[in-house]
Amino acid sequence: MNFDVERERARFPALHQQVWNKPLTWLDSAATTQKPDVVIDAEAAFYREDNANVHRGVHALSARATQKFEAGRDKIAKFLGAAESREIVLLRGTTEAVNLVANTWGTANVKAGDEIAISGMEHHSNIVPWQMLCQRTGATLRVLPYDDRGVLDLDAARTIIGPKTKLVGCVHVSNALGTVNPVRDLAALAHAQGAVMLVDGAQATAHVPVDVVGMDIDFYAMSGHKVYAPTGIGALYGKAKLLEAMPPWQGGGDMIRSVTFEKTLYAAIPAKFEAGTPNVAGVIALGVALDYLGSLDREAMYAHEDDVLAYGTERLLEIPGLRMVGTAPQKVGVLSFVIDGVHPHDLGTILDRHGIAIRTGHHCAQPVMAHFKIPATARASLGLYNTRADIDRLIDGLLAAIKVLR
Ligand code: PMP
Repeated sequence: MNFDVERERARFPALHQQVWNKPLTWLDSAATTQKPDVVIDAEAAFYREDNANVHRGVHALSARATQKFEAGRDKIAKFLGAAESREIVLLRGTTEAVNLVANTWGTANVKAGDEIAISGMEHHSNIVPWQMLCQRTGATLRVLPYDDRGVLDLDAARTIIGPKTKLVGCVHVSNALGTVNPVRDLAALAHAQGAVMLVDGAQATAHVPVDVVGMDIDFYAMSGHKVYAPTGIGALYGKAKLLEAMPPWQGGGDMIRSVTFEKTLYAAIPAKFEAGTPNVAGVIALGVALDYLGSLDREAMYAHEDDVLAYGTERLLEIPGLRMVGTAPQKVGVLSFVIDGVHPHDLGTILDRHGIAIRTGHHCAQPVMAHFKIPATARASLGLYNTRADIDRLIDGLLAAIKVLR
């Protein structure tokens, strides 16, 4: 097998449109990926043929919906390398997954004097829930530093992660820098101190293999929309023994075994954390997206993405006054940069007129901007469907924009 990018591009209908009378160049996959036909069709097919609520009905459609929904959970478990499907909690996405852990595991296990250690390159969704927990409990938030390439300082981490640490949180792949972090090493450091390891996998699932058991991760959060599936669906992986010991968070239907006005008994995992009607179509479509990825030669796909990233880096550096932000040797998917004398927002606006979609701003990682002493970057981010030709269009667009802006 190998990876034929043109064949795969053809499967993503949104890529084949004109914007401002120019062919769309989608370089914003870190914000959200485009969806292949099979995913769009799966979502529509659910509503056309199977639409019913899950877990409660005795009728045929409910049984069918439940079977497909649970098959989606099984596929996510397999994709992440989980030992069992009941270790997969189906949620809105990474943000909800981290908040769930902070509000359930955190409330039960963190008290005044304890420490939570997170990397300095976290997305706000893996910072703010821990700050809120620290405010509630009197625990302290510690930050693991990184260097000017965006490489985590493991020696510093060794001194910060200590007996007071209860949880270590780290982004698997940084959305602002592209760094692939050594989460297996961090997990070992956490476990040596009796702490648990939470990984934000939002940006990783599309670009690197994930193996939660092999990496010995306790909690792994992911978002479907970053991995060619719909928005509004994602998952939290948690080791069964941790999930079982955690209190529930949201109360409601589906998360109970029995309810009286005196007492409620909770359902077993994962239902205990899945109050209310879930995004049934989303789970099914996420399963289809993972099947789609599974049908590809993933090694060849990663090699293709590496090639476009390396080519993009090389070509960007031809632009006078351009500085890359995030130059870690282990890096995927993201080309973040600033250009002397040009504001990223202005660049983004002009590139849009060329049909080129990039992201500009702080990328929900303001502490990363503070580290590099910049307010914002321009970020071109890659999906499996991007090509060297997309990079060439980006460079032409940037050169045209600089002419206007400088
Ligand atoms: N973490 C990272 C690294 C991200 O890139 C994102 C999305 N930009 C999130 C977390 C949050 O994901 P979601 O909005 O899907 O919950």
